[in-house]
Amino acid sequence: MSDVRKEPSLETIISLAKRRGFVFPSSEIYGGFAGVYDYGPLGVELENNLKAQWWKKMVYDRDDIVGLDSSIFMNPRIWEASGHTKNFSDPMAQCNVCNTRVRVDKALQAIGIDADEKMSEEEISNLFDAHRSEIACEHCGSKDFSAVRAVNLLVQSNLGDFTEQGNSPSYLRGETCQGIYVNYKNVLDSTPVKIPFGIAQIGKAFRNEISPRQFLFRGREFEQMEMQYFVAPEDEMTEYKKLREYRWDAMLALGLQEKNLRWKQHKNLVFYAKDAWDIEYAFPWGFDELEGVHARGDYDLTQHTKGSGKPLEYFEQETGRRFTPHIIESSGGVGRLFLAMLVDAYREDVLNGETRVYLAFPPSIAPVKAMISPLLKNKPELVEKAREVYTALKKDIPQIMWDDNGNIGKRYRRQDEIGTPFCITIDFDTLGEKPELKDTVTLRDRDTATQTRISISDISSRIRVGTLNKGI
Ligand code: ATP
Repeated sequence: MSDVRKEPSLETIISLAKRRGFVFPSSEIYGGFAGVYDYGPLGVELENNLKAQWWKKMVYDRDDIVGLDSSIFMNPRIWEASGHTKNFSDPMAQCNVCNTRVRVDKALQAIGIDADEKMSEEEISNLFDAHRSEIACEHCGSKDFSAVRAVNLLVQSNLGDFTEQGNSPSYLRGETCQGIYVNYKNVLDSTPVKIPFGIAQIGKAFRNEISPRQFLFRGREFEQMEMQYFVAPEDEMTEYKKLREYRWDAMLALGLQEKNLRWKQHKNLVFYAKDAWDIEYAFPWGFDELEGVHARGDYDLTQHTKGSGKPLEYFEQETGRRFTPHIIESSGGVGRLFLAMLVDAYREDVLNGETRVYLAFPPSIAPVKAMISPLLKNKPELVEKAREVYTALKKDIPQIMWDDNGNIGKRYRRQDEIGTPFCITIDFDTLGEKPELKDTVTLRDRDTATQTRISISDISSRIRVGTLNKGI
């Protein structure tokens, strides 16, 4: 049996994700809705496992970081103070033939031009004009595009607006970290934290992305996992280095293959940033941003001090000095990590002369830890015993599945394709046909497809060791 990793195409991953209940396109029976996705029965388990591991790494494993769950709607003045209402935009051009929109910085990058969204509108517009002859509309092939214009990414809502004109928009948050900044003082005043300390949050964010593509990589509604770490000005760069190392280790502990990860430093920094690096993953289209680890200086709290008129300084008791904390952040998307996990785990090999697809998820993040089944579903004595094993195990390990559909070979293949590390089969030997095997079951390993016999009383600890104690 070979175990050669075949690079999966994005289409292969999208189709597996839908077929097996990981991710569905949103509103599908109504023709869909661009840039939003629904996580299915397996997807929600995988997603929960990823979020739980992030929370463990960023909150439970640390004495200096606490959690938060701030609201999606906030006072619109926050988005003015942070600069989002003015500057949170992407450069867009529209095809004059078929109206398809392109994100200009990405189109330039695709032909090898070093452009990014931090450039000024004028700079990026000039760059686009200089390269118009090389950029074709991906829909109709035309090179006839409109002038470049900046499109604001904030999604507006009419929450609380009962005026006829509808002229005072509120926004669905464009990033979760603003909720952290505006609660910095509340956390400081209500908990024993002292600088340096961090606030971590997982939650939804919304952006009016110009061309949401690449599946979960770029959605209009997505979830972020962000940690903002508040430090004294002189410690910013040392803490920043530590955080970069911590996040890199966290990616490896999750089980991502190191060869598929790399660091990339930003060339064009926004004016307030001290330094910025992204962890990139080898997605099917190439390396691209998985998460950002940024040193943001004192910009965020300074802006909110100005915007709110409330002092957000830190008083250091030991020295009696007051300062505005500097912030370093780690900011990643659940969807991007989810997609990276699927791509990283995808394997094809040949088993008993047939091609088999399996997901080699690290057991700790696998959506289903074990499948339990009776060898034959028309033998009540097997079904009864299997149900007994299943019910007892489920109390210990909730992420298990019952499956008695089709023959046992088909069941194994199905579980392989969803990345279940273990399959447990109850057969006549379990019932004592061979007395020495009474109360033992077959345990099949996903990656090697080998089967061993273990006793029913050992199943729980075997699966726990195999699935829960790994990694983070
Ligand atoms: P990009 O340059 O790809 O648009 P960004 O640099 O604007 O991304 P940030 O604002 O730094 O992204 O957001 C932090 C993280 O949130 C990203 O690293 C990514 O994991 C996630 N993220 C951002 N935008 C999206 C999106 N539209 N869909 C899914 N995840 C996203």
